[in-house]
Amino acid sequence: MNRDFIERLSHNSKLYIGYPPATDFKYDYLSDVLNYSINNLGNPENLSNAFSSHEYEKEVIHFFLKLYKSSYHESWGYISHCGTEAALNGCWLGRNYLSDSNRSNCIILASEYAHYCIDKIANILNLPLIRIKTDEKGNIIEDALSTTLNLNKGKSVIFFATLGSTITSSIDHIDLFKKHADAFNIKYYIHADAAFDGSFLPFTKYQLKLGYDFDSINISGHKFIGSPIPSGIFLVNKKYLKNREIEYVKNNDLTIAGSRNGISPILLYEGIRNIGGYNGLKERYIKCLNNANEILQYAIENNINAWKNDHAITVVFDRVDDEIMKKWHAPSYKRYTTITVLPKTNFNMIKEFINDITFYKNYKKTRDNTITYYPSKVSSLL
Ligand SMILES: *Cc1c(COP(=O)(O)O)cnc(C)c1O
Repeated sequence: MNRDFIERLSHNSKLYIGYPPATDFKYDYLSDVLNYSINNLGNPENLSNAFSSHEYEKEVIHFFLKLYKSSYHESWGYISHCGTEAALNGCWLGRNYLSDSNRSNCIILASEYAHYCIDKIANILNLPLIRIKTDEKGNIIEDALSTTLNLNKGKSVIFFATLGSTITSSIDHIDLFKKHADAFNIKYYIHADAAFDGSFLPFTKYQLKLGYDFDSINISGHKFIGSPIPSGIFLVNKKYLKNREIEYVKNNDLTIAGSRNGISPILLYEGIRNIGGYNGLKERYIKCLNNANEILQYAIENNINAWKNDHAITVVFDRVDDEIMKKWHAPSYKRYTTITVLPKTNFNMIKEFINDITFYKNYKKTRDNTITYYPSKVSSLL
C-alpha cells in the first residue's frame, strides 16, 4: 500500500468540512470479509445464496421500511451501489408503470435544486426533464409548478421530489404537487430523492409514509450513516414490481445491477448497530442539529452571512471565495457554500474556517498555504 495515498486521505479528512459523507466509523474489525467473494446477486429476500450477505441486506431494508412507516408486506427494497442507482430504479419503475404503451407521453419534473443525477437518469430513460423554478432557498415556486403542470396536461409525470437538496436541504412540498397534478387530472408517480436527509427525516416534522406520500425513495448509505464504500438504499411500493413478475419468476432478479456488492449490507448493518439502532440514529441527528444551530450562531456572531432550514443539519454560507475553498472541501452552488454538520465536524475546524473567511475579507489573501490534496501518480502496472 502506497503510504502517500493513506496520508492524503488522512490530511484531507481534516479539511473535509462540507460534504455529506460521515467519517466517524472504524470497520477494520470486519476485515475477514475481504477474503471472500461476497455477491448479493438477486433478491435480498432470497436466503439460499451461499455467498451472499442477503440476511444483512434484508434487515437493513427492514429498518428503513420501518423508518418510512412501511413493511415487507406492502413494500420491497434492496441495497444499491449508490443513491443514483436507486433513483434510477425508482424512475425506471415509474416510467414503466406510467407509459406501458405510450412512452412519448411521460415526462420527469424536478426542482431547479434537484441533484444533477436526474439529468443523467432522464437521459438514460429517454424522457424529457423539466426543472421547476425555485426561490433562492431551493423551494419550488407554486405558480411555476402549476403553470408547468397546466402546460403538460394529458401527459403522465414522474415527480422527482427532492427531500433535502444538497445545498440548502430544501424539501419539495409533495402535497402541493399532488394538489396541482390532481387538479389537471394528471397521472403521476412520485420518486423521493432523500440521499442525505433520508436517514433522519423520520425524526423531523416531515412524517412521510412510503406507498402513501411517495412511491419509491433513495437514501445514500455512505452519507449520514457513513461507510468506506458508497451505497444506496432503495425502497418501493410492491405494486410497481408487478410488470417485472415474469422476469422475476425466471431468475429472481429485480435489481438494475446483476452481481451486487455484498459488503455494503454488512457495513450498513454494523453501522446502524454501532450507532444504536432507531434511538441511536435519532440521537445522532439531534446532536448534529444542535451543533448546526450553534455553528450558525457562531458564524452570525462573526459577521458571516449564514442561514439554515429548521430541520437541516446543513448550514448555508454566502459563497466562500474559491481561494479559501482550495483548502476546505465543501460544495458551492450559485451564491452558496454549504457546511454539512456531522459527528466529524468539530468546533475547532469551524473556527479555523471562519477565521479564514474573515482574514480573506480583510487582507484579500489566505492565512496559510494549507490545501486539499488531489490524486498524484502511482507506479505503472506495465
Ligand atoms: C448525494 C446525492 C445524490 C446522489 O447520491 P449518490 O449516492 O452519490 O449516487 C442524489 N441526490 C441528492 C440530494 C444527494 O445529496
